[in-house]
Amino acid sequence: MGELVDVKIDAILIVDDSSSSAEALSGMLAGQGYTVWVVADGAQALREIELHAPDLIVFDIGQPDADGFAICQSLKATPRNAEIPIVYVSAANDTASKVAAFELGCVDYLTKPYAFDEMLVRIQFHLKQKHVYDLLGFRAGHDALTGLPNRNLLIDRLQQAVKHAERYERRVAVAYIDLDKFKFINDSLGHEVGDQVLVEVARRLPLCVRDSDTVARLGGDEFVVVLYDQANEDITVNAMQRILHSIAEPIVVNGSEIRTTCSIGFSFFPQDGLDVETLLKNADAAMYRAKELGRNNFQFFTDELTAHINERVALEQSLRGALERGEFVLHYQPKVDLRSGKVVGLEALLRWNHPTLGMVAPLRFIPLAEEIGLMQQIGLWAMRAACRQQKEWQQGKVADLPIAVNISSLQFLQNDFTDLVTTVLQETGVSPQSLELEISETLSMQDPHSTIRVLTALRNLGVRLVVDDFGTGYTNLSFLKQFPLDTIKLHQSFVRDIERNPEDLAISDAVISMAHSLHLRVTAEGVESGSQLALLADRGCDEMQGNYFSAAVSDEQCAELLLEQRSLPMDRLGRKHTVRTLLLVDDEAKVLSAIERSLNAQACRILRARSAVDAFDLLATNEVGVIVCDQRMPKMTGIEFLSRIRRMYPRTVRIILSGHADVGVVADAINLGAVYKFLNKPWEQAELCKIIEEAFAKYENDRLMEIASIG
Ligand code: GH3
Ligand code: MG
Repeated sequence: MGELVDVKIDAILIVDDSSSSAEALSGMLAGQGYTVWVVADGAQALREIELHAPDLIVFDIGQPDADGFAICQSLKATPRNAEIPIVYVSAANDTASKVAAFELGCVDYLTKPYAFDEMLVRIQFHLKQKHVYDLLGFRAGHDALTGLPNRNLLIDRLQQAVKHAERYERRVAVAYIDLDKFKFINDSLGHEVGDQVLVEVARRLPLCVRDSDTVARLGGDEFVVVLYDQANEDITVNAMQRILHSIAEPIVVNGSEIRTTCSIGFSFFPQDGLDVETLLKNADAAMYRAKELGRNNFQFFTDELTAHINERVALEQSLRGALERGEFVLHYQPKVDLRSGKVVGLEALLRWNHPTLGMVAPLRFIPLAEEIGLMQQIGLWAMRAACRQQKEWQQGKVADLPIAVNISSLQFLQNDFTDLVTTVLQETGVSPQSLELEISETLSMQDPHSTIRVLTALRNLGVRLVVDDFGTGYTNLSFLKQFPLDTIKLHQSFVRDIERNPEDLAISDAVISMAHSLHLRVTAEGVESGSQLALLADRGCDEMQGNYFSAAVSDEQCAELLLEQRSLPMDRLGRKHTVRTLLLVDDEAKVLSAIERSLNAQACRILRARSAVDAFDLLATNEVGVIVCDQRMPKMTGIEFLSRIRRMYPRTVRIILSGHADVGVVADAINLGAVYKFLNKPWEQAELCKIIEEAFAKYENDRLMEIASIG
């Protein structure tokens, strides 16, 4: 940081009603290098002070018609001018006059005639003192690192702004700005680099607002901008946008580019607060909301925000003591093997049993715990509790299954994480193979090199490793190959509609085949229906977890389930493969029955669906050879349905049945649904039988060809 106050030439104003003495003095002072102005009366003096802000005034009004003291008093009337030292010059040598001058606030009193030498020395002394005061005043009001106004000066200015705005019915905006993840810059690049970033931010902020607005640094990475005269919200919003853009521009320190962003919250006088404290508090609350909403954005203050903040503060307070009060519990969700149907593992899931709120959802408290730095402790508690439970179940002959624990990013990246795991295992006497650690895909890719290092250390320890939520992040496959993993968990968002949505099925297929090529197992999360289960098993998925088998349950309920050796029935683990299965889809029951009657001689199993949704479920659980589908159905047309089926189960032979064979429909049926035949209603019984017979022959032939090509 350079000198805070520039070295400048001092300016002296001489107020003197005698031009000859003024000229002599000003000549002498100018010869000493000072800037000098001369005026002859009080009114001119006031104008000159406004214009040039002198550093010192020599006041010499001696004519009997002018009251020197009164003029001097008016010069001292405003706070700003009161700071300017006045050297009073008078012919009067009596004590009363001197006392009166000093009482007015003059710093010195010289009687006429005076020697120039003495005047010069006194002026030099008073100027020097003023500099010291200025400097102290500046220091008191400014931040040493950035030179911006500090909290004290900010509050001063904001108070003035509020007064002014009240009087003239203006709006003032208070913007609270906090850099995002600034600790990361400090931690990774060092405090000094952090300082340079703060200095650069302090340089940029004033460029985003008007000269008359105030930009202050509150401390840390927090800044406040006070914007005066905000006639409408658009003006403020534009300024906020300029700030976001400006801060997001790369900052160059020591030749390397650093990127940062900021979160902004703002409040308005008068609607969001009538005093400085409330305005700042509410802007801060809005800033907090901006952080919660993902950072790098700005938020207005709102009343709902107050409610939200109050709730959050209350939650945060009770969260701080929750561990000591023993309010956390683990629930367990079984993982089931899709070949044997047996439970092969458990995932421990953290729950907060709040004394008044009841069970608080993990999504409500885990991000909060991370934010306030409690997640490491809580995570460690969970690992220890899961291991104790493991041991207890092992010794009680309930089960001997690996238990998985979720690891948050802060835990995973702490230096001694592997040591902590070792300690917990030793303490609880659990073997490493019985502990599974789950890290999220996003975390694993944050810093893949560190991930490889930590995972390798953990693998050497013998614990099992799982990447959670797979499919939601951006995985770099070349890194994934280097992670020593056991399992990948397919995120539930792909499972939710897997039996209906061709994209979800395609992604699941891809994840399963990629994982298998890396010799990893795949666990599907959030399996809720029999059709999802059957389809996943059919596609080679190894394990499932989800409410279809069991939700996450308490330790007692889990023990019960394990003791019962509850499992999934084998006949649900995959699609039914029986010879010649025909699926009929029509929303009218009459039509379904009529088709079935026409086919009574046909040797095949017939499945019936009244809607596309039902048909999707039947296809997920049964290997179907031929589909006969009505074109006009509510919710989804036959062509749309068949076009999905073509992508999900390409082997099926698809036939459409339509009452209205216009050319467009026929074209779509062929192009989108890749249908084998297009039949008109009403159909000829013999023709239908013949077509279906041919369709099955085609299906069987295609299968044989496929098997031959694989073989
Ligand atoms: P968030 O997005 O939640 O704001 O994350 P953050 O890392 O920016 O967290 P927070 O604003 O709470 O932390 C500000 C950090 O700024 C904390 C402290 O280490 C650092 N800091 C405070 N004063 C200074 C300073 O004068 N110089 C530097 N280099 N760092 C400072
Ligand atoms: Mg910050």
